[in-house]
Amino acid sequence: ISISDPIEEHRICVCVRKRPLNRQELTKKECDVVTVPSKCVLMVHEPKQKVDLTKYLETQTFRFDFSFDETSSNEMVYRFTARPLVETIFEGGKATCFAYGQTGSGKTHTMGGDFSGRTQNASKGIYAFASRDVFLLLNQPRYRNQNLDVYVTFFEIYNGKVFDLLNKKAKLRVLEDGKQQVQVVGLQERPVGCAEDVIKMITIGSACRTSGQTFANASSSRSHACFQIILRRRGQMIGKFSLVDLAGNERGADTSSADRQTRMEGAEINKSLLALKECIRALGQNKSHTPFRESKLTQVLRDSFIGTNSRTCMIAMISPGMSSCEYTLNTLRYADRVKEL
Ligand code: ADP
Ligand code: MG
Repeated sequence: ISISDPIEEHRICVCVRKRPLNRQELTKKECDVVTVPSKCVLMVHEPKQKVDLTKYLETQTFRFDFSFDETSSNEMVYRFTARPLVETIFEGGKATCFAYGQTGSGKTHTMGGDFSGRTQNASKGIYAFASRDVFLLLNQPRYRNQNLDVYVTFFEIYNGKVFDLLNKKAKLRVLEDGKQQVQVVGLQERPVGCAEDVIKMITIGSACRTSGQTFANASSSRSHACFQIILRRRGQMIGKFSLVDLAGNERGADTSSADRQTRMEGAEINKSLLALKECIRALGQNKSHTPFRESKLTQVLRDSFIGTNSRTCMIAMISPGMSSCEYTLNTLRYADRVKEL
């Protein structure tokens, strides 16, 4: 049994989730190139060709804190990733959970679930499960009489600008004061009294995020969405849980696009994902310098990357199809770098 501080030990958790092949991939008879042989290991079997044209599979093995295969449910993923961080915010800490990966790999499905209203049965994601457990804890004897109030915020960072998803995408300013405190000016913090109240906010914010988007150029794949659960006592912040649905990492490669706007957005995404990696690594290594100013995303989440009671979990989402192989490997290499201390 280790005698070191258990919180220090588990500050960073990096997991991977493989989604099932979707209908489109099945129609194209795409191969599934990813296997999950055990609960921590994931393998990618990349089809290759030798000079004499014989075909072979090159297998690459990755190890994470958890790897979830295509049969895992959102609730199961939640239980091993964000669930252990819920207590943190009751103990005066900051918790963050990131969904990282290619567009279409399941980031929004995992984090937000489906509250589009298109389906009869709305499926819950990590936002909803975490909120449920915050209220479960809040009603336990040890926290019930502590005068804790719960608030949520929901915003989007698009091309380095912040928009409030609970206030008709109002554009917000980010200010840093002399004490390096970062503030998103005018961000709506909605009071919530129960898990159902939170579901309403998730529904409103998710609809706001996807409104005005064309299918061909969905801006949600180019923006980071951040849902926060905030605990306050008489107005003073006790803890904060930030749940972030990141922009599609393949967009960071749009830097050679013919379209100037697309190029700029790509560069911004690239910058923010690199900064995020460095900030999480700094937290894991207890470094004194955290390069949070490098991007709007890391700047806004500044207080989550510092302090002795901050914990982070990253879930790398991957598409199992052969056509996604290259992006999948990119995603896994990034996740690998985040966990490497
Ligand atoms: P992203 O947000 O990463 O671009 P989405 O979450 O929108 O990707 O997922 C793309 C599609 O795949 C959606 O239709 C979603 O419902 C589906 N999907 C993603 N992950 C899963 C999963 N684990 N099980 C079933 N369907 C999934
Ligand atoms: Mg999405």
